[in-house]
Amino acid sequence: MKNKRVNFMTYTKLDADSIISYILSIDTLHHFFGTDTLEASEIGDGNLNYVYIVRAADHPEKALILKQAVPYLRIAGEGYPLSRDRMSYEIRSLKLYNALIPQHVPDVLYADEAMSVIVLEYLSKHIIMREGMMDAIIYPNFAAHMGQFLAQTLFKTSSLFLEGTAKRQMMAQFNNNTELCGLTETFVFTAPYMEHETNEIDPLIEAEALALREDTAFKIAMLELKYKFMNQSDALLHGDLHTGSIMINKDETYVIDSEFAFFGPFGFDVGALIGNLAMSWVSHFERSKDSHYQGWILESIVELYETFETYFLSLWSAAEQSALIEPGFIDHKGLKQYQQNFMQNILQESIGFAGAKISRRQLGIAGVADIRGIEEPKSRARAEKMALSIGIHLVKNYRTMHLITDLTDYLRNLK
Ligand code: ADP
Ligand code: MG
Repeated sequence: MKNKRVNFMTYTKLDADSIISYILSIDTLHHFFGTDTLEASEIGDGNLNYVYIVRAADHPEKALILKQAVPYLRIAGEGYPLSRDRMSYEIRSLKLYNALIPQHVPDVLYADEAMSVIVLEYLSKHIIMREGMMDAIIYPNFAAHMGQFLAQTLFKTSSLFLEGTAKRQMMAQFNNNTELCGLTETFVFTAPYMEHETNEIDPLIEAEALALREDTAFKIAMLELKYKFMNQSDALLHGDLHTGSIMINKDETYVIDSEFAFFGPFGFDVGALIGNLAMSWVSHFERSKDSHYQGWILESIVELYETFETYFLSLWSAAEQSALIEPGFIDHKGLKQYQQNFMQNILQESIGFAGAKISRRQLGIAGVADIRGIEEPKSRARAEKMALSIGIHLVKNYRTMHLITDLTDYLRNLK
């Protein structure tokens, strides 16, 4: 087939044809395939961007993923502009993650900020974790892998590890991801709890949604979390770390789709993941009714958090000097006490953010398939109500929790 001529020096939206000339114009990618005969097809489930799989026609196992951002919100169409700069943040964060923890992110084979394109290793033996969890699949290594991912990515991009200049230079790489931060500020922390055209409220839980709009204690707690999100630049966050951003199998775990990356509070990614695990746990009262699977989810929440905490503290012990702690400033006993308070705060904020993520998924735009995908309306409403009441409880009470098992005990005692 004759490919369209495309000027790749300036931004052009690629399609299944022009992708092939684009790939062939890049030596390393051309070399990867070792042939000029390629096939590209779109993978359908991206919400924001275009994702293609490109294969060698004669060796279909030779495959890569090409993802391109367009200057609008893909699901909503060209009438909803959204800066394609988001791809630059995905590129920068995935490269950084590759330097910090390469076994848990796809290789970045090529990146082009001007074209808003990233070319990634194709994860052929993995599925989106949310899909696997809806089918009640157990992932024995997930908690250990993601605990390490969180510890490594959060600790090593924070002032507990970096010197002041390095941290600020790194922050400058992500500071302008304002539009995607704005989406979180609106759609996680604000819109779901007020009259807003984007909300998608199940009529069967409308009473609960309306009552929440009058709940001042909840709103104050939510504002406190939103303020932390906006102002507490602890570490580089993935920014959208739900089970749909993880590709997994029984052995391996990969994090993808980090376009929301920016510097925010330690507890935000940890809480996002815990919140999504908790929503899956709720959904299985209606889906599989498999208490063994639900037990695995609660154990995973504990193992995830404990692995994160253990690794985070061991990285801290190994780091002799940082922007925060100069050698000779505090003795061992004092440092231990400081670390204890510090970790307690991360735990509590993680639980608070988990609550925010759970609540918004019940009322706002973009619910989770685990719950919104339950077909029988009464069954779905039961799951939504349970999830919402958990979210509200966590947002209001995260400061009363002192151990990760306080969270799982609370969940276990609900039924
Ligand atoms: P979006 O930002 O548009 O949501 P994602 O990065 O989540 O896009 O990718 C959309 C889908 O493409 C994923 O849900 C997954 O099914 C598939 N995908 C993305 N990256 C890879 C990869 N490296 N290997 C295999 N499949 C992938
Ligand atoms: Mg995305």
